[in-house]
Amino acid sequence: MARYIGPVCRLCRTEGKKLFLKGERCKSDKCAINKKRPAPGKDPKGRVTKRSDYGLQLREKQKLKRIYGMQERQFKLFFERALRMPGITGDNLFMLLERRLDNVVYRLRFAVNRTQARQLVLHGHVLVNGKSVNIPSYLVKPNDVIEIREKSKGLTVIKEALKEYGKSGVMPWLSLDPDAMKGTFLAIPRRSDVTDLADIKEQMIVELYSK
Ligand code: SF4
Repeated sequence: MARYIGPVCRLCRTEGKKLFLKGERCKSDKCAINKKRPAPGKDPKGRVTKRSDYGLQLREKQKLKRIYGMQERQFKLFFERALRMPGITGDNLFMLLERRLDNVVYRLRFAVNRTQARQLVLHGHVLVNGKSVNIPSYLVKPNDVIEIREKSKGLTVIKEALKEYGKSGVMPWLSLDPDAMKGTFLAIPRRSDVTDLADIKEQMIVELYSK
């Protein structure tokens, strides 16, 4: 599947928000958003135009899609699945996105961003319940154990990510043993648990796809 391979900071500039697509740089002064760089193609001194409802909904969807590093087709499939589930569609969408294996690998601090986590999964460095799973969109279930396979535990990228990010701990629905490079997906998070994405207005995405 074709993936975006251009400069990722450009995506944040388009949304006017940090999407945390890199790693350490996102927290530093080098971040394009911290530097207040304008959206691509926009004159910082130009006229501010008001966005239509459709424009706002579209931007909200693009933000979430880019945060999880997904292409339109797959994101839409996730949305359709969320729609078929009982309960609130927006909440269901988050539940599904958080269960993606590449996301869990990132949340367990084995990678500095979701793109790197995706690469780790694709290259077979990740085991789920002792078995190799190389599908980034694989949906993890409660009590699944996710670990780095023995042969890959020496990889610098993983060690560096754990060293850098392991200190800040993991989200409450996960547990991590950093020395063993092993973690458990304890439970499916509720929407309110995903605090780092609290500002995403998923209802707008529901409205967009319901048109
Ligand atoms: Fe986005 Fe990170 Fe680039 Fe900042 S450094 S613009 S948060 S990807």
